[in-house]
Amino acid sequence: MENCIFCKIVAGQLPASKVYEDDDMIVFKDIRPIAKIHLLAVPKQHFKLLSELNEERRALVGRMLEKIASNAPAFGLSEGYRLIINQGEEAGQSVPHLHIHILGGQKLGWE
Ligand code: AMP
Repeated sequence: MENCIFCKIVAGQLPASKVYEDDDMIVFKDIRPIAKIHLLAVPKQHFKLLSELNEERRALVGRMLEKIASNAPAFGLSEGYRLIINQGEEAGQSVPHLHIHILGGQKLGWE
């Protein structure tokens, strides 16, 4: 989608510290990390909200979750990790392209 920063990263038009890529998604380091390890898993297909899931996207998000889990040790997250999906402005969603925050590499608090 035009003017979407994550679509531009997916298309290789903007740089990112990519740690994983497959047909469904890319995973790269968050530019403003809030944990020792802070990655973003971004579907290659543009959509903003979980409320926009259809059958195809439901399967896509399912595969993303499976691949995050299977790659967690390679990401340095074998001791555990936290996934966050901000939905909408009140939740702090600043990029209108669905993304899964992957946090870990340290003991995480809950505030
Ligand atoms: P959210 O607030 O849930 O929409 O998360 C968006 C995240 O994208 C924030 O944590 C930003 O730090 C991150 N971010 C924005 N632009 C970039 C970029 N060019 N490369 C990596 N991470 C980015």
